[in-house]
Amino acid sequence: MALPKQSDDFPGWYQEVVKQAGMAEPSLARGTMVIKPYGFGIWERIQRAFDDRIKATGHENLYFPLLIPNKLLEKEAEHVEGFAPEVAVVTHAGGEDLEEPLVIRPTSEAIIWATYAKWIQSYRDLPLLYNQWCNVVRWEMRPRVFLRTTEFLWQEGHTAHETADEAIAEALTILHEVYVDAARTVCGLPVVPGRKSASERFPGAEETLTMEGMMCDRKALQAGTSHYLGQNFAKAYGVQFQDRDGEQQYAFATSWGVSTRLVGAVIMTHGDDKGLRLPPALAPHEVVIVPIYKSDGERARVHEALAHVKSALADRRVKVDDREQLRPGYKYNEWELKGVPLRIEIGPRDAEAGSVVVARRDTGEKETVAVGKLAGRVGELLAEIQTGLYRDAEAFRDANTFSPKDYGEFKALIEAGGGFLQGAWCGDPDCEAEIKAETKATIRFLPLQPEDPGAPCVHCGKPGVDRATWALAY
Ligand SMILES: [Zn+2]
Repeated sequence: MALPKQSDDFPGWYQEVVKQAGMAEPSLARGTMVIKPYGFGIWERIQRAFDDRIKATGHENLYFPLLIPNKLLEKEAEHVEGFAPEVAVVTHAGGEDLEEPLVIRPTSEAIIWATYAKWIQSYRDLPLLYNQWCNVVRWEMRPRVFLRTTEFLWQEGHTAHETADEAIAEALTILHEVYVDAARTVCGLPVVPGRKSASERFPGAEETLTMEGMMCDRKALQAGTSHYLGQNFAKAYGVQFQDRDGEQQYAFATSWGVSTRLVGAVIMTHGDDKGLRLPPALAPHEVVIVPIYKSDGERARVHEALAHVKSALADRRVKVDDREQLRPGYKYNEWELKGVPLRIEIGPRDAEAGSVVVARRDTGEKETVAVGKLAGRVGELLAEIQTGLYRDAEAFRDANTFSPKDYGEFKALIEAGGGFLQGAWCGDPDCEAEIKAETKATIRFLPLQPEDPGAPCVHCGKPGVDRATWALAY
């Protein structure tokens, strides 16, 4: 079935790409998804990129349980209030009502900080730099595959520190050296690092840092967050340590996460009307080879040449599509939809000439390459595609970043489809809420350090205290 055009029906396009590319499908419990092998292959590569960087910055992986006693969650007031509407509770098990209900983790601060209370006694026990890869459950009212699902996969880092400065530095290290670096270099996402306004913070955080991407419908997607939690969780769960002067202190915390939502970000940043376009670093197959022949004689010659091509590309992730019952044109469309970066075509004439035709998914360009030079050329092309997809997305983001001169222009830009709208903001949460009520646009990020905009608020005209970026968002 043909895909809807992105410009006609972006949500329909997204849904069909996810389905037809074999990435995921909705499952039987509302809001849940089955991640199929092709989608999971992409997630595994994302996971590896982030995990490598998490470890390179000094963190270790561990694992905490899925079930958390309900009363533990209730200890941090803002946290429980923020998550209460989304929490699933187990009240019945083993054939009877539970005396104490258990929640299925929506995030693990509660169980982890209750445990850290046992692990942290002295400054010598700090810092704790731990991360876990797991699933979490948040009851979604408007589920959407990969973007908002009731159950999703993610990593959650939870660190404990002696000082506020050290914890703030940790939150920034994760944002820059782990999240932004992996998102840009591996996923090809030109994300912008920034700080959330108070109303968009994680429940219980002092500061929430974000990396924000622009999708190709010009909506923003929060692609990962890193929180400085101050001493809120240490106080709620009684995590005290003896400092270097022999005094009792509460530990300082961070937490940070990226999820399977990143798969959605990759689809919606790089896709086009033909389907997915995958950055080579994430592609389950970097190259697909389609042999072309009609007679048995041609088949034999093409297969002999194919063996040389395969050995030339032995260190690449290569898929040979030799399904006999399907025509080459059908296969081309299918692999274009699945976003495979390079396609190699070998017909009888190519076999005779000792060459192949190489087609790029990103630009659609084709070239003839001698088999002897194939390994080198494929390496060059994959590197070009990896950086090219990033540059295209960055140019699109920049072309759709605006500085409206007044609120009239602000509203006109939102009605025309949005983008990143940058302007002065007064810092008042009520003003922020009014803009949201009137236009649906929210503050996606503020600069990492407040910047004097030298202009009045774009909405209310009061003195500006910071430079905000608004957008319609997922
Ligand atoms: Zn204002």
